Amino acid sequence: MLEKKILVTGGSRGIGRAVILSLINAGAKVVFTYKSNHALAEQLCKEVNTDSQRLFMIAADAVDFESAQKTVKKAKELLGGLDGIVINAGITRDNLLWSMSENDWDDVIATNLKGTFNYARATAFGFVKQKAGSIVCVSSVSGLIGVSGQTNYSTTKAGQIGFVKSFSKEVGKFGVTVNAVAPGFVMTDMWDALGIKKQEQLIKDIPLGRPAFTEEIAEAIKFLLSKHASYITGQTLVIDGGLSA
Ligand code: NAP
Repeated sequence: MLEKKILVTGGSRGIGRAVILSLINAGAKVVFTYKSNHALAEQLCKEVNTDSQRLFMIAADAVDFESAQKTVKKAKELLGGLDGIVINAGITRDNLLWSMSENDWDDVIATNLKGTFNYARATAFGFVKQKAGSIVCVSSVSGLIGVSGQTNYSTTKAGQIGFVKSFSKEVGKFGVTVNAVAPGFVMTDMWDALGIKKQEQLIKDIPLGRPAFTEEIAEAIKFLLSKHASYITGQTLVIDGGLSA
């Protein structure tokens, strides 16, 4: 069981959605954010809130500092407190560096890296004050081994790994843990966007011979939020089918 109150950013689809379902099944109450797909977010809430309301949604752009502050405040009101956060919202805008537009660089840095700062910053003081809290960032194996066409994305994902190392050293003495997961390729819209040709190329390098199911990432995140991970901090748990081994 995991009867905790958790905020998940970018929860309407993909990994975030699987995390929510896994947490709800374990007994948690969850608030999630999304950027623009209101219908999808609403559908997920309907699916979950059949008997009682245990899932709440908030439209909030991760790049906006003020909005992160307001979202965390609202999440605490809705849930009656906060025990953990999954900083999951992220985007790709793949291109070879010499063809990459300034916008594609800036958007990925803003969403993935500044978004991480915004939500860690918005939750940090509360967790320190209550002397408990778990922060899990969803990084990527792209930040560990690099992927051609993803210099912007790899930069942010490597940045998150450094971020959790530093931040965990600041808040450890207050009983707050900060970790990351680094998934390999996962069957989500992000994977679909790569196209069949690139997917086939990538699968050749995965020892387990397939991309991950979203549930396989969600279970690891749930573990890092649970009491079973109480002595783990500053770490990045790689879940990549052996890709980076
Ligand atoms: P996804 O299926 O594309 O879903 C992205 C989610 O993030 C959606 O809920 C989306 O909301 C939300 N989002 C996007 N930009 C946002 C913003 N600016 N503010 C708030 N929410 C925003 O993504 P995914 O594949 O599950 O990836 C989730 C995380 O896992 C990302 O950090 C990604 O880097 C990481 N990851 C993914 C893979 C993979 O292969 N899929 C591998 C390694 C790591 P809307 O629906 O409203 O747009």
